[in-house]
Amino acid sequence: MKTLKILDTTLRDGEQTPGVSLTPEEKLEIARALDDFGVDVIEAGSAMTSPGEQEGIKRIANEGLKAEISSYCRILQADIDTAMKCDVDSIFLVTPTSKLHIKYKLGITRDELLRKTLECIDYCKDHGLVVDLCTEDGSRTEPEFLLKLMGEATEHKIDRYTIADTVGTATPERMNEIFSKLSKKAKIPLGVHCHDDLGMATANTVASVNAGVSMVNVTVNGLGERAGNAPLEEVIMALKEGYGYKFKVDTKKISKLSDLVEKLCRIPVAPNKAIVGENAFTHEAGIHVDGILKKSETYEAINPESVGAKRRFVLGKHVGMKSVKKLLDEQGIEVNDGQAKEIFKHIKFIGDKGKRVTSTDLEAIANSVKGVEVKKVIELDELVAVAGNKFTPTASVKLKINGKEVTESSTGTGPVDAAIKAIEHATRDFPFELTEYHVDSISGGTDALVQVMVKLKSRGRIITSQSAGADIVLASVDALVNGINLIIRKTD
Ligand code: MN
Repeated sequence: MKTLKILDTTLRDGEQTPGVSLTPEEKLEIARALDDFGVDVIEAGSAMTSPGEQEGIKRIANEGLKAEISSYCRILQADIDTAMKCDVDSIFLVTPTSKLHIKYKLGITRDELLRKTLECIDYCKDHGLVVDLCTEDGSRTEPEFLLKLMGEATEHKIDRYTIADTVGTATPERMNEIFSKLSKKAKIPLGVHCHDDLGMATANTVASVNAGVSMVNVTVNGLGERAGNAPLEEVIMALKEGYGYKFKVDTKKISKLSDLVEKLCRIPVAPNKAIVGENAFTHEAGIHVDGILKKSETYEAINPESVGAKRRFVLGKHVGMKSVKKLLDEQGIEVNDGQAKEIFKHIKFIGDKGKRVTSTDLEAIANSVKGVEVKKVIELDELVAVAGNKFTPTASVKLKINGKEVTESSTGTGPVDAAIKAIEHATRDFPFELTEYHVDSISGGTDALVQVMVKLKSRGRIITSQSAGADIVLASVDALVNGINLIIRKTD
């Protein structure tokens, strides 16, 4: 099977996601990760956007990356001039081709459009730039016009020809129709750029590849305008696993790349998102866990390790005996069969109330079933947190650590942050990393009960802990202290 190429547009179309704005440093950090992952082209931005954007593109272009660095440009000489000042290798030259766009957006004729487009191509080529000519709203353009444009643009020496399904209205059949016609005549590589408005960006990209496309346009986590672009992780894995195409990327780095983009773009990935969602390799149901433990293919489309993810088993009302035993075993809790059955019943009971069972809950249940009383190394004695419009949020805590009184205080961005930092200072002898903090309001209203869930990492071990209450600061501190106590017991 042929090796496909990737144009990643996380830094251009992805950054056009409502609410996303990256600093030049953040753009550079993502570009380095994309390059390390192995994408062929990085569309680093749209140079005309702003001085900050220009700085970002310029830094990426001068970073010495292996990937070709590109800027989006309209068919305007000023756009191309600005992109050139940023030292890019190539221009992603976008020309609207549908009657709808030409008439209502540009208000010109097709002949004028063709002339302007070819002039811009010549201008780019005169300046030694690679040109990827992209047809905006191409999927709603008559294939005859797409063919005519491809023919003339090829004579003017474009390097690639990309069809965009700009509004995400295409179907796999439509993409197949277009590319079957183009690929018969094409003397240059073809690209495709799909959007997910009807949830078909991946399917449309796959159909395009099967009809002759060799370069796919994608974004990490499917970020992008409106419903987003074709997600990098889905397109790569679907084409690899489903069709046997090859890519020169290291798929084991997908999870890390997704995490980085999620963090810097501040757009959380949906838990049920394919490949990179929190639940993509998480199993709760007893029947599934049983199958997976026997042979993972029974309930997993791909091996989580192939994308750098980890398989997880969680406890809830669908849990089976096998996962309870496996999780007890993983936590180093020894029980006999009778005790395991009793624990299993407790978990079902909690699960039926719609609650998740965390590592600290499992330990507490096991201890109560076994009749073991656990001594907490760390106990919270006092907590004071203040916030308001005239104060820097500050918190102080008094803890008993092994019976010894320890007092610490800290400021923070808010009272929760200040309290958590005070606890971190007080427990610095027990190093851990707080990798996740999550608050849910259990009931509505300002008097709502909140549930705080924390995830802590210590020496490669991940534990979860939760606490509920009407006081968000206290619930946060409780969840954290319970988690730290569990970590200490595990490292003893
Ligand atoms: Mn787009």
